[in-house]
Amino acid sequence: MRILILPLILCAFLSSVFATRADEKQKRTLLLEILDVSAGEQQSEGTFAYNDYNRKRIVSLVLNDVMILATPAEMAELQARGFKPTIVMESDDTRQLYRRGLYGPSMKLDSVYQSYAQITARADELMASRPELMTRFQIGETSQFKQPIYAYRLSNDAHQVHDRPAVLFNGCHHADEIMGATIVSALMEKLIAGYGEDEQVTKWLDTLEIYLVPVVNVDGHNIVTSGHDPRWRKNVRDVNGDGITGVYPEGVDVNRGYSFNWAMGGTNDPSGPSYRGPYPFSQAENRAMRALADQRQLLLSVSYHSQGEVIYYPWVWGKMKSPDHKVIERIAADVAGQITQMDGSGTYAIAPGGPSSQSYPWFYGRRGVMDMIIETGRGSHVFPPEVVPGIVAENLKGATRLIEHAYGPGLSVKVSDAVTGDPLKAQVWLPRVDNESIDRRFSDEQFGRARRLLDPGNYYLVVSLEGYATEVRTEVAVSDEGWTELEIKLTPES
Ligand SMILES: [Zn+2]
Repeated sequence: MRILILPLILCAFLSSVFATRADEKQKRTLLLEILDVSAGEQQSEGTFAYNDYNRKRIVSLVLNDVMILATPAEMAELQARGFKPTIVMESDDTRQLYRRGLYGPSMKLDSVYQSYAQITARADELMASRPELMTRFQIGETSQFKQPIYAYRLSNDAHQVHDRPAVLFNGCHHADEIMGATIVSALMEKLIAGYGEDEQVTKWLDTLEIYLVPVVNVDGHNIVTSGHDPRWRKNVRDVNGDGITGVYPEGVDVNRGYSFNWAMGGTNDPSGPSYRGPYPFSQAENRAMRALADQRQLLLSVSYHSQGEVIYYPWVWGKMKSPDHKVIERIAADVAGQITQMDGSGTYAIAPGGPSSQSYPWFYGRRGVMDMIIETGRGSHVFPPEVVPGIVAENLKGATRLIEHAYGPGLSVKVSDAVTGDPLKAQVWLPRVDNESIDRRFSDEQFGRARRLLDPGNYYLVVSLEGYATEVRTEVAVSDEGWTELEIKLTPES
């Protein structure tokens, strides 16, 4: 065994040297298109496996057609293996090859997608047309260019916050995953157009609050929508402080900046695609989302990403499942079953995510929001225009199903002061469900309300607040229909 080690090390060393030299000498200057790539070649071990982080080779793989970067030698090798690559573009500038591959011949983003200015202008029009249904508020500003990040509240009386279940949809933590902004904008259109026309939409706006943040990472989204660089994933933070922005791959990964197990997610390497920044909530985009979560207790939320046709939900941590795993998994599976894949072969998959630094563990673990990531589409982040309407329509079906889960089953507790009747922000604890992996949940300050989606059954409930006698209910029966309402009046201790 010992004898073998040295040659192995030498081999590994030499091959890494050669790989480096090959990269330097033979830059991939060709953008090739290959049509009708077989399923086998698309598998993870195959030549054309698409990977979110592979920015050196596969540009896109949409419905069996691959766009790939190659050297002349690699092209010859592909031809020798029987593939029929077409040269789409030749350039020393990798960014230009990506622009051609993802934007198409115009080298600009197709008008099926919108800039942030267009999205907010359209939202302004919708608000002007139905002022009672929608209101806008700023939740923060971007890290680099201090652009406003807007949230929209939609209900039949949107200028006030109501004691109703609240559902959030957001897009574009990752700049190039622009389907998120497209889907959230389409949902906004559907809600405004549907109120008073569509029975289900009318019911939603009469009984729920729906919050929309079409674009979280506004600076990065602008890099992609302006046509500058379709690869841009992170925000546009000038990490090295040289005063120059927009040079790929600078920036911080906004979906690795939340504080739940922050150090376990992403990377410390600023050039890495998942650079988590110098400390949790270092980026203004993350602080904006935190401000929204602190301003309004949310029940359910979705972050749209691309790609993979899968829903990630919180969580499996080693072998430990999150306290609400069964309920969240049931909802995720129900939503996923509504969303047909691009190739029509089935519906979206579900998978429990890990509990680190991304949006969903933080929203769930720290704020009690049943949050999930929906990875829309497959094989690209910036999709060709012809497939976009289909992805949007399918994901609106998923959103529709998700919103219906805001009607329970679950427990809706209203906590108030037994003497004054004032609402109280108290700890609302299910000790036989919760564990120490998540923060305790509280009723909200404004209404004294705490809602929790649960499977039907009996629950042990403890409601407590300093200065008041703790209330314990040993048998709270949660029915299988709608919200089980419970009033808890806390008596002040003398
Ligand atoms: Zn993403």
